Amino acid sequence: PPRPERPHVVLVASPGAGHLFPMGELARRLVADHAFAATLVTFTDLSTGPDAQSAAVLSSLRAASVSTATLPAVPLDDLPADARIETVLFELLSRSVPHLEALLRGIGSTAPLAALVPDFFAAVVLPLAAELGVPGYLFFPSNLCALSVMRTAVELNDGAGDYQDLPDPLRLPGGVSLSREDLPDGFRSSKEPVYARLVDEGRRYRTAAGFLVNTFYEMEPAAVEEFKEAAEQGKFPPAYPVGPFVRPSSESDEGGVSSPCIQWLDCQPRGSVVYVSFGSAGALSVEQTAELAAGLEDSGHRFLWVVRMPSVDGEHSDWGVKPRVGDENDPLAWLPEGFLERTRCRGLAVPSWAPQVRVLSHPATAAFVSHCGWNSTLESVSSGVPMVAWPLHAEQQANAVVLSENVGVALRLRARADGLVARGEVAAAVRELMEGEDGRAVRRRTGDLQQAAAWAWAPEGSSRKALEEVAGKWKACSRMGGRGRIA
Ligand code: UDP
Repeated sequence: PPRPERPHVVLVASPGAGHLFPMGELARRLVADHAFAATLVTFTDLSTGPDAQSAAVLSSLRAASVSTATLPAVPLDDLPADARIETVLFELLSRSVPHLEALLRGIGSTAPLAALVPDFFAAVVLPLAAELGVPGYLFFPSNLCALSVMRTAVELNDGAGDYQDLPDPLRLPGGVSLSREDLPDGFRSSKEPVYARLVDEGRRYRTAAGFLVNTFYEMEPAAVEEFKEAAEQGKFPPAYPVGPFVRPSSESDEGGVSSPCIQWLDCQPRGSVVYVSFGSAGALSVEQTAELAAGLEDSGHRFLWVVRMPSVDGEHSDWGVKPRVGDENDPLAWLPEGFLERTRCRGLAVPSWAPQVRVLSHPATAAFVSHCGWNSTLESVSSGVPMVAWPLHAEQQANAVVLSENVGVALRLRARADGLVARGEVAAAVRELMEGEDGRAVRRRTGDLQQAAAWAWAPEGSSRKALEEVAGKWKACSRMGGRGRIA
């Protein structure tokens, strides 16, 4: 007899490595563990991560039987040159809806559709789920704290009239308290146009059948409970903690090339190296780069630093600054004079990109100076590596607060009044985390959370069960619904 067609889940990942990687992992699990067919939809332009990395992830997904599709480019050149990234993403997504609809109808003509799963910038596609008669679930690659901020903003701006600012401080479940400057970008002032767009997006969130959130119970127990209550009372769709989604990363995923980072780590003592990285898009000013270099040097510890191009434009103090040596397109050329030579015996600086999951799980790696991007955070916790929190953008500031004040897996750096993190602060934080008493508590707590993260995905684990529950709903829906298949 002909094999019954597998119900098909379509996932929509907005541009950015931090969005694509965890969603790819979700797609892989839906296919491997839940017998769905899956298509991961991405966009043509705007990839903020290095293209080679995204291409490698997409090809490893295809090898794992996840289909991939890229939507055609849409014009965005009418947007103001200084439009914020959130605004650009919202526009890209809403202008791409007709292309996505055509794709969905194509897939739906050959297989029953089981669910449509856009990510947190893509709620504008949810009406398509309703139109096609399939459940629409939002994938949230960040945490419940960030989702709470969004929910609070929507609830606060329920009525007509002017937009309201979030309270300062904003108090959230689990004793989380966020001051105005700790709020995610775009939520700090109701006067900014981006605030209205975020609230609009949040209103669309309410039409989702549920959220798949890249977090796990022990990371945010109070928030999980609070969202459960809100769902029971019909205040907000249910949020399922189904993470952490960490890409398995191996040499074979990277084309079999042995990375210089891993070769170098192989030669370092166990638990001796501080890994320093600011994610796929983080950039420091030239002045800040010099302070970080000096701080690492002063700390006396071994380090592996992924150096990205400094942000020169718009950083007033950097005007007229030239690279210290050689090629201005080489990030290492911007490091302070003599730094690489002086630290040659205990440090490695690599340009732009490192195989981070492998670096963090390497036995030589002891600590992570991190921008607190949520994927980096989950990868660090999953490897039992404590963090020095150095947030830059997006919701990283809020993550840094939660990780240091509430969860206890990070020490937070203090910037000077002018925003600069001084060399002494860097050196002291690294030393404290590696050798100090406070550091010891953070290290111990990270070890505990590592176990909890592993348990979440064990056979009876909380995240595995939550995803099973959702998958069960999708299957029941696609069995019942003639509407899943499109005539
Ligand atoms: N990443 C990596 N190598 C790098 C920088 C980043 O593999 O040199 C990966 C990292 O492991 C994570 C993702 O890129 O999976 C970055 O996501 P995150 O949410 O931490 O930060 P974002 O880049 O979105 O700011």
